[in-house]
Amino acid sequence: MEYKKTGIIDFDKVVLPENWKDKKVFFPVIECIEKIPCNPCSWSCPKGAITIQGDITNLPEIDFEKCNGCSICAGKCPGLAIFLVNPNFDEKYGAVIIPYEFRPVPQDGQKVVLIDREGNERGEGEVVKVRVNKAFENTPLVTVKVPKELVMEIRHIKQ
Ligand code: SF4
Ligand code: SF4
Repeated sequence: MEYKKTGIIDFDKVVLPENWKDKKVFFPVIECIEKIPCNPCSWSCPKGAITIQGDITNLPEIDFEKCNGCSICAGKCPGLAIFLVNPNFDEKYGAVIIPYEFRPVPQDGQKVVLIDREGNERGEGEVVKVRVNKAFENTPLVTVKVPKELVMEIRHIKQ
């Protein structure tokens, strides 16, 4: 419950796929740990991979086996609490898909400052894709290349 004091989530409570460091595809990281009445992640997932059991205030649960990495949940989440991570995007880098509602919308190829969960600057990254469309509630989903060792830390960018 340290996050109640700091505003920074207790990351050890976040569910990750088995052997996540070896994955070469994007998978969701749901950083939703406050019990609130909310469920767009669940009803919007076309694969039924995210469920909220019982009361709507219960936390979402994910079945990574059903997920195809489409990113719709990240765009639909009003709390911007869902990221997608690919630990091995290429030989040298991992990548993180970040829901980003600041303006201007970043551009492909743009260099950005990487920001970690605690708000610290952690070096430079490169935007490799920006998607804005209705399926994502027009929330820009920005794919950023980051050093592999930082894929579970970088959660924002600064232009
Ligand atoms: S990435 Fe797509 S398939 Fe996977 S949990 Fe999110 S909405 Fe469902
Ligand atoms: S939509 Fe976002 S904030 Fe709402 S329950 Fe799902 S992950 Fe949590």
